[in-house]
This record gives sequence, C-alpha cells and structure tokens, in this order.
Amino acid sequence: MDFAFTEEQEMLKKSVRNFLEKEIAPLVSEHEKKGPLTKAETGDFIRKLMPFGFLAGFLPEKYGGTQLEAKTNGILVEELSRVWGSLAGTVFIAAAFLWILNEAGSAEHKERLLPLGASGDYIGCLAITEPDAGSDVSSLKTTATLTGDNYIVNGTKTWISNGSIADAAFVLVTTDKTLGPLGMAFLLVERDKSPFAARELHKLGMRCFPTAELSFDDCKVSKKNLLDLGAGYKRTMAFFDVSRAMVGAMCSGIAQASIDASIKYAQERTQFGQPIGSFQMIQEMLVDMMME
Ligand SMILES: Cc1cc2nc3c(=O)[nH]c(=O)nc-3n(C[C@H](O)[C@H](O)[C@H](O)COP(=O)(O)OP(=O)(O)OC[C@H]3O[C@@H](n4cnc5c(N)ncnc54)[C@H](O)[C@@H]3O)c2cc1C
Repeated sequence: MDFAFTEEQEMLKKSVRNFLEKEIAPLVSEHEKKGPLTKAETGDFIRKLMPFGFLAGFLPEKYGGTQLEAKTNGILVEELSRVWGSLAGTVFIAAAFLWILNEAGSAEHKERLLPLGASGDYIGCLAITEPDAGSDVSSLKTTATLTGDNYIVNGTKTWISNGSIADAAFVLVTTDKTLGPLGMAFLLVERDKSPFAARELHKLGMRCFPTAELSFDDCKVSKKNLLDLGAGYKRTMAFFDVSRAMVGAMCSGIAQASIDASIKYAQERTQFGQPIGSFQMIQEMLVDMMME
C-alpha cells in the first residue's frame, strides 16, 4: 500500500489541524474535567466537524457523503485524536454505526435513518462486548427469541461507546445458541421504540467519551430489525478489521500530541540557566518517543 499523501490530503490535513487547534483545542480541558459529553454537546461538535468529512464522509453522495476513502478517513481520525481523543472516539463509533447501517440495513432503515444520522442528530453505538465475552466474541450470551412479529432481547452489554447517549444500537445477539457463531446476528435496537437501560461507566482517561453498560430486559424489537441472520459474527470480524486500523490512527494522533507537548515544554522550561531541551538526556528521551 502507498502511504504517501496526495496534495489534496496534505491540504486537508493542514486545514483540519488549523481548525481543530483554533476552534476545538481551547475547549478540551474544561470538558474533560466535567466528564462524558451530553448528546446535545456531541451533536454540536459533530456538526462543526462535518464540513471536513467527519462522520458521514464515507457514505454515498445520496446520503450526504463524499465516499471518502480509508486513508483520508485515517487522516481525519488521527488529527482529531491529536487534539481530543474522546471526541475522536465518539465520532468514530457514530460513523461505524452508519457504516453498518449502510452496509447491512434494509432499504427502509437506510431511507429513514441514514439522513438523520448524517445530520449529526442521530447517534448510534455498537453493542458487542459482554461482561463474560470480550476478546472471545463467540461466547456471547445475549439472546433474541422470536415471538410473533418481534424478537425479545435479554442480556447485558458492557464498555459500549456512546451507549448512554445513543438513539440506537446495533446489538450482537444469538438467535440460536446451538449454532455457535453461525447463530449470531445484529439487531437494530431503536431506543424510542425499544427502550433499554444504560449505566455510564467511569474511566480514568478519555473522560468525555461516553462508555456504558446496556441492559436488555425483555426488550421487544421488531423482527424487521434483524440483519444478517447467521452472519453477525462475520460482520463483527469485518468491522474489527476496519476499527483496528482506525484505533491505530487514534493512537498515533494521541502519541503525536504527547511528542508535541513534550518538545514545547522542553523548549520553555529553563533550569541551570538554559532550556531543559538543551540537556542531552532530555534530547534522548524525545528521540526515543519519536522512534517508538
Ligand atoms: C474505551 C473502551 C471502549 C470500548 N467500546 C466498545 C464498544 O463500543 N462496543 C463494544 O462492543 N465493546 C467495546 N469495548 C470493549 C472492547 O472491545 C473489549 O475491551 C475487548 O474486546 C477486550 O475484551 P476484554 O476487555 O473483556 O478483555 P479480555 O478478553 O478479558 O482480555 C484480557 C487480556 O487478555 C488478552 N487475551 C485474551 N485472549 C487472548 C488470547 N487468546 N491470547 C493472548 N492474549 C489474550 C487480551 O489481549 C487482554 O490483554 C470498549 C472497551 C474500551 C476500553
């Protein structure tokens, strides 16, 4: 793969960095002290970012996107993470929800929900992990049992990004435990029609990034909202392929911010009559950070 940026990508990187440093960076510290962003705050930030292609850029033009390709998306995620990792996480998960909706939703779901999602007013989340099913997704326990025209969902999902502010969740369920991974499917749970409980979880870092435990207690969901009967596990793995690359972009953005802050401090802080950056040991630490 060619990792070099095109002229347009270089220009985008520069303009998004200028915007984020001027308009977003001054707000980060105060928000991080307060904790998870509310849904209204999230929507306001997302709408400020959308002109650059955040959230819906990868969608077809019909739904307000520009079919942004993966590397350009990576530039956006990396630059936002450099300034505010929490917001990058929220936007990435909201976009991932739209990605699955666009890939696997029915025509009716797409017509009704993609325009809402692409306006920043409808936030989604992906509920895969459970208290006893983390890396081993195939051991999940949340069930969806068909009863008439509805599935009845029971189970608990944890560490769900955007869970407390989400209007809807793609919930990975099993419809038939005897089939193992082949019995799994994504169920689109729209919160206004199929309410579920969300309990915010405290985190040490990225405190503005909402992260919740979701409880489904006889939650009734239309059978029309079941996608991918039997292919939910495969779709989850396909999503992980994309998300691992994007989490990589988030991590390198956060690492770049750490390097930038360290260099700035090494130039400003003076001891023994000179900036600490002139000491060889500090220079070695900075070089190690860049190399690693
Ligand atoms: C901030 C945050 C946001 C998240 N957002 C979401 C979300 O939106 N939706 C969602 O569904 N989930 C989400 N998660 C959950 C995340 O996907 C899980 O944390 C992840 O799947 C790992 O599961 P676990 O934490 O239970 O770790 P475990 O699976 O219990 O693993 C514990 C440790 O053992 C290691 N390990 C496990 N299996 C093996 C093996 N076979 N060989 C070697 N080492 C192994 C792991 O690498 C890890 O270091 C989020 C988590 C965090 C922290």
